[in-house]
Amino acid sequence: MTAPTQRTTSGRGRLYDSIVDTIGDTPCVRVNSLAPEGVTVYVKAEYFNPLASVKDRLAISIIEEAERRGALKPGQTVVEATSGNTGIGLAMVCAAKGYPLVVTMAESFSIERRRLMRFLGAKVVLTPKEQKGYGMYLKAVELAEANGWFLARQFETDANATIHQNTTAREILGDFAGRRLDYFVTGYGTGGTMTGVGRVLKKERPETRIILSEPANAALIGSGRAQGRAADGSPAESHPAFQPHPIQGWTPDFIPLVLQESIDNHYYDDLIPVAGPVGIEWSRKLAAQEGILTGVSGGSTFAVAMQVAETAAPGSVILCMLPDTGERYLSSPLFEGIETDMTAEERALSESTPGFQMPAA
Ligand code: PMP
Repeated sequence: MTAPTQRTTSGRGRLYDSIVDTIGDTPCVRVNSLAPEGVTVYVKAEYFNPLASVKDRLAISIIEEAERRGALKPGQTVVEATSGNTGIGLAMVCAAKGYPLVVTMAESFSIERRRLMRFLGAKVVLTPKEQKGYGMYLKAVELAEANGWFLARQFETDANATIHQNTTAREILGDFAGRRLDYFVTGYGTGGTMTGVGRVLKKERPETRIILSEPANAALIGSGRAQGRAADGSPAESHPAFQPHPIQGWTPDFIPLVLQESIDNHYYDDLIPVAGPVGIEWSRKLAAQEGILTGVSGGSTFAVAMQVAETAAPGSVILCMLPDTGERYLSSPLFEGIETDMTAEERALSESTPGFQMPAA
C-alpha cells in the first residue's frame, strides 16, 4: 500500500438536529511563520462557530438557561444591547428556536453587523454614538420594561461565564491534555471568555499563566479605579478611563460584572494593554502570512501573544483566542487600503499577456 497523496475526509460521524448544535468545538491551530523561533503559538479560531464568532456560545447559553428557568416563554421577544457579535449569535439562535429578537446598538459599529442581524430576522434599534455602550444598554432596559420582553443581560448573567467554563475551557483542557500550555491570552468584552476559562485553568492547569488585555487608550482595569454599580451589578456610570477605541467587541465603557469575578479572584496573572492600530497590523499579518482571517480583537489578542512570545522561555507554548472572523470588518479600518480596483501591479500583470484586458479606467 502506498500512502495516499491527497487529503481525504470522512464526515463528522453524526447528523445535526439544529444549527445550534454545531456551536463550539473550535480548533486550536498552530501559527507557522509569525511565531518567533523556539516558541509555539496556537490560536483558538472561534470563527469556526456557525455565525463565525465566540458569541454563538453565549447566545445559546442565555436562551437555553432562560428556557430552563421559565424566564423566557415560547414566542416571547428577546432584547439585548450588543456591539454586534452577540446580536448575530442571538439572531441565529432566536431564528432557529422561533423567538423574535430586538437588538440595540450604537451607530458607530460596522454596518455589516446591522445588516447581518436584519438578514437573520432581527430588528436593530440604533442609539447615538455619544451615549456609548451605556446608552445602548439603557435603551435595551427601557424597551424590555415597556414591552415585557426578555432582556438577555450578557454583561451580568451567569449563563455567560458558565458556558465558557463548560465548553471553551473543557475544549482547551481536552486539546492540550498531556501537552505543555504555558500561556493563555485573551481580551474582554463582557469578560465571559476570561472568567469562564479562568475558573477552570486556575484549578486544572495552575502552571498556565493567564494574560488579559485591554485597549491601551481605554485601560479600565489598568486605571485601578473601581466600577460604580447598581444593586443588580449593572454599571451605574460610564467609566472615566474609557476612550473610544478601534477594537470592536472589546472593553465597553464600563467594567462588566461578569469580568469583575476575574479581577476579584485574580484569575489572570498579567494585564498587558495593546494599541488598536497594532492589533490591526497583526490581524493583517495573520491573514496574509498564515491564511488565518480574524477581526481586530483577534489581531489585538495575537499582538499581545507575540509580545509574550518575545520574552517567553524557549519551548514555551502559547494559546491565543481569536474571537471572530475578519469578514465582519469589510467596511471598517481593518480593510482600509485594500483596493476594489486593480492596483498598478495587477494592471501590469493584466497587460503582460495579450488577451482579456480590461480597458484603462
Ligand atoms: N472580540 C469580539 C469581536 C467580540 O464580539 C467579543 C464579545 N463582545 C469579544 C472579543 C470578547 O468576548 P467576551 O465577551 O467573552 O469577553
